[in-house]
Amino acid sequence: MPVALAVHGGAGSPPEREYAERQAAVEGALAAGWERIEEGALAAVMAAVRFMEDEPVLNAAVGAVLNREGEVELDAAVMDGSTLRAGAVGAVREARHPVDLARAVMEDGRHVLLVGSGADRFAHQAGVETCLHSVFVTDRQRRNWNERFGADTVGAVAVDAEGRTAVAASTGGVTGKLPGRVGDTPMIGAGFYADDAAGAACGTGQGEGFMRTLLCYRAVAEMLPGLSAQTAAEAAVSYLSDRVKGLGGIILVTPAGEVAAAWNTDFMSWASRTG
Ligand code: ASP
Repeated sequence: MPVALAVHGGAGSPPEREYAERQAAVEGALAAGWERIEEGALAAVMAAVRFMEDEPVLNAAVGAVLNREGEVELDAAVMDGSTLRAGAVGAVREARHPVDLARAVMEDGRHVLLVGSGADRFAHQAGVETCLHSVFVTDRQRRNWNERFGADTVGAVAVDAEGRTAVAASTGGVTGKLPGRVGDTPMIGAGFYADDAAGAACGTGQGEGFMRTLLCYRAVAEMLPGLSAQTAAEAAVSYLSDRVKGLGGIILVTPAGEVAAAWNTDFMSWASRTG
């Protein structure tokens, strides 16, 4: 079976001088994920997203955008398209790698989404690495605080040699958000979805639009009748624009190893590999 991995570093309108460094970060994540693809789609998307959580030029974990009170609150998710198991966390402040905490929620199996202090406490109980909140706050984001719409969530979708699909995503959300705001990234069907019967999708952009349209579920569901991945990606982004004037982008992978991406913002860093 053909294998495929696609990663994105967020859709938005960053200054043009930042395009190259964002793209370089995404290429690094693709390489990190590809190294693990033989272990399966889930291992590959986890490795790619973990890599981007360490990249200060991207909006996830280290380098995440600041909320209105100048603090970082992080969202992340993971889904296994074979079993439809999923785990997600919202507005967490202590997990060094929020995507690891999402994975721990999924492996625990009792719940799909944990938020806030309860999720942070679960990180300690589950043995997920934690850190001081200050680790996430960079000078760059202090400068950007409340200056412009920032949205550079990171995400990855993959299919492995057994035809198993997976998706993972992580974000600081949107610049200047209200404390307690949770976006689409940890909302199953909105910011992410995977089902081996059709494929996997991961979104980025103004999350409220993705939540109101359940965009990732919509994109995956539209791949079912045999539509090409690129057609499904473009249809999803058109729906986002037309129905709710939403801004953002999406990456998709099919069980047959097809990869697609579409966005309606000035820029989206993304990269893919198939083999
Ligand atoms: N979708 C994310 C959110 O609204 C932001 C992003 O994609 O950059 O939280």
